[in-house]
This record gives sequence, structure tokens and C-alpha cells, in this order.
Amino acid sequence: MDNNLKAAYRKHLEKAAKALEKNNMQAFVADTSEEACEIVRSLLKDGEQISCGGSVTLSETGVMDIMKSGKYDFLDRSKATTPEETGEIYRKVFFCDTYLSSSNAITENGELYNVDGNCNRVAAITFGPRRVIIIAGRNKVVRDINAAIDYVKRVSAPANTVRLGLDTPCASTGECAGINTGNMCSGCKNDRRICCGYVVTGFQRDKDRIKVILVNEELGY
Ligand code: SF4
Repeated sequence: MDNNLKAAYRKHLEKAAKALEKNNMQAFVADTSEEACEIVRSLLKDGEQISCGGSVTLSETGVMDIMKSGKYDFLDRSKATTPEETGEIYRKVFFCDTYLSSSNAITENGELYNVDGNCNRVAAITFGPRRVIIIAGRNKVVRDINAAIDYVKRVSAPANTVRLGLDTPCASTGECAGINTGNMCSGCKNDRRICCGYVVTGFQRDKDRIKVILVNEELGY
């Protein structure tokens, strides 16, 4: 990528990082996925219990490989063989040391915006694990909450429903069925709908429980 463009993107990330710090979330700006992985390694302690939400970003950056390295006690839901086991892991996650995830969007005002179907991910980001590490590419950083709502309805949810092979309206049209209603929660009535809980993470009382690594690359969706 052109260095001038990369420098301009970095300014946006730095602005969002400052705003996140004002909201009591520790923020880092990384130029590359490798740099983001170094930060993740520095934040994790050997042997601690970790888990994660479903995330393309964790795989693309290499953070998933760190999680699976054997250095940590990884509560891995992909190892569950029944819905009951999956549910048990989701509940155990509340007691883990560190939960890793991306965020659907991050505003330049320092807010995280996440939309979830099962809501295990938004629940763990909000409460439970001692620490939360969020890794997000520059494409997730948007101006404000309205832009975040729009981004999820136009990009995140349609791409995720295609990835998961779900027969939702957004998977076939590329945008949410509720896109033009002006209502955050408007959408389809599909049984497999992935938009059920809408969570904005603003100012945190538990300072630095949430750590956010903003990466100057296009990652996930
Ligand atoms: S509410 Fe339904 S149509 Fe809208 S983005 Fe979510 S899954 Fe897609």
C-alpha cells in the first residue's frame, strides 16, 4: 500500500486509540499483524486460561495460532462435539483469565459496537473474563455509532452469513433486510438471524480490563 495512505489511516487509528483510552480501555496501534501478535504475546501469561469469540481477524492476524500454541489453557469451543458441550464452554468462559475477540466496529469516539446471534461473545466482552483483548483492522474503525450500525448491516452481517452458509436475506442481497428503516434492531425474522444482541461498549469502570489493538491493515469484516 502507498505509504501516504497508510500514514493517513494511522492518524484515524491514533484518534480512535486516544478516545478508547479516555473511555478507560487500554489501546495500542500496530502497523502490521506481526506487531499485533507481539502485543498479544506480551499481554498473555504462560499457562493462563484463555478463550475467544468467533473471528476471522484472529485467524488472519495469526493470533489464533498463538492461542493454539500450547502455552495457554485454551477453552476451545471448536473442540466441542455436542451443543451441550458448546454451552458448557460458553459458561466456563466467564471465569477465564483472558478473552480474545475482534469487534464488529470501533468508533473514533472510542466505543466498541458488537452485534451477536448467540450473544456469548457480547456477554464475555461485557462481563466475566478478567481481561478482554480486542484486535481490529483499520476497516472496522468508523466515525460514530450510526456509521457502526450501518457498517454491520452492510458489511459484517452479510459477509458473516455467507461465511457461515446461512440462508438469511443479507446473504443473498448483500445488506440487511432492515437497512432503510433507521432502526438499529430492524432486520429479518429468519431463525438463523445472527443479529440478536446489539451492544455498545462505552466508558469502563474497570480500567484497562478491555485492551484494544488497532491494526493498520484490512482484517476481517
Ligand atoms: S437481521 Fe437478518 S438480514 Fe439483517 S443483517 Fe442480521 S441476519 Fe442479515
